[in-house]
Amino acid sequence: MHNVYALFCFCPNISYRIGVKLFMKENLNPFAIAQAQLDEAAEVLGLDPDMHAFLRQPQREFHFTIPVKMDDGTTKTFQGFRVQYSDARGPAKGGIRFHPDETIDTVRALSAWMTWKTAVADIPLGGGKGGVICNPREMSVGELERLSRGYMRCIARYVGLFQDSPAPDVNTNPQIMAWMLDEYETIMGHREPGVITGKPQPLGGSAGRGPATALGGMFTIREAAKLLNINLNGATAAIQGFGNVGSFAHKLAQEMFGIKVVAVSDEFGGIYSADGLDYNFVSNHLAQTGKIPNCPGTEPISNQDLLELNVDILIPAAIENQLTSVNADNIKARIIAELANGPTTPEADDVFERKGIYVIPDFLCNAGGVTVSYFEMVQNAYQFYWTEEMVNQRLDEKMTNAFHAVHKMTQDKNVYTRVAAYLVAVNRVAEAVRLRGWV
Ligand code: GLU
Repeated sequence: MHNVYALFCFCPNISYRIGVKLFMKENLNPFAIAQAQLDEAAEVLGLDPDMHAFLRQPQREFHFTIPVKMDDGTTKTFQGFRVQYSDARGPAKGGIRFHPDETIDTVRALSAWMTWKTAVADIPLGGGKGGVICNPREMSVGELERLSRGYMRCIARYVGLFQDSPAPDVNTNPQIMAWMLDEYETIMGHREPGVITGKPQPLGGSAGRGPATALGGMFTIREAAKLLNINLNGATAAIQGFGNVGSFAHKLAQEMFGIKVVAVSDEFGGIYSADGLDYNFVSNHLAQTGKIPNCPGTEPISNQDLLELNVDILIPAAIENQLTSVNADNIKARIIAELANGPTTPEADDVFERKGIYVIPDFLCNAGGVTVSYFEMVQNAYQFYWTEEMVNQRLDEKMTNAFHAVHKMTQDKNVYTRVAAYLVAVNRVAEAVRLRGWV
């Protein structure tokens, strides 16, 4: 106790971190985590304190109530948020989540990560995020449509192709984007498809937007495997989450590289097969039953045990705070490809760094979605559409460049991959802020 106290007195920064680890419960507030990550990068960069203070907070946020007429005749009031974390490099950009556990701090964190994501991918956009506290599983299609239109009515005047462009995220999809687009265009009295991305293709959506997040992640896995001398053909993987991102990750890992996906899961639980799970078989089972568990010919596995499997590649593709101080020591993967946003806490990062696990950090690994959203905005602006092949080839180029910019930074500064990704991103955002004369 005395030694630790002495440390506190003489070396406040280091002792703070040790103190946190010894005495305090791990902080799982996503915005506190996002700020702590930025703080670490700012220290390595020697970032100007005024710039650091500016970048620690969202530029602007909207909180609103959305009254929705429910099917039973009652009116329910939902709480909605939109955070425009930064528009220094271009219009704010990022998805909208519908989730019962949504909080303003989660949306703030996710909007910060969008800011670093568009910067690391080097696309001319800022970062934003939206959320509604709701449980879409308990809502009818009509209720969901009225909620989606109500959300857009609340933010219509603050979004636009040159202001802020939302997109799908957890529990939202192209149909929801279509309702929001229609509401916006009805209010504004003109067509402006680039106000929202991840739309259905007949309304101006981009070819290749559906698989884009997972495909972008595959390009980063390919590059990491080259560095680590891992032969992906026959390499093993476990995937947590089977939404848009996790399911496409399973399909693409199998089809592009011959990766053997031995475990997948959804919120109801997981399945395991040492021989590998066939994507078509699992997705047929899901289509029939609505759940991943109890797929014939597989063994059950919990979401926790899935993360701790002895595999080459672990792909968290669900939600934040899955890899923490509780399980970090038990993780055996050689590569962690973070297709989810914020799956790893700073405490778990320390363990992975010590163990030499190669982490492809979230806002690099999952930047494929927003990159193709950017391509969608470009196509909308020109009213001229590309083939899926062109989209994928341009995505490969963007993701490969981003991966190597981060990898080079790990070597130049001798830092962990997440810190390196922050260094690349923060430098770019800070440069735009400086050029604008804000700080
Ligand atoms: N929701 C996705 C993400 O977290 C995509 C955002 C977008 O396309 O704007 O990156």
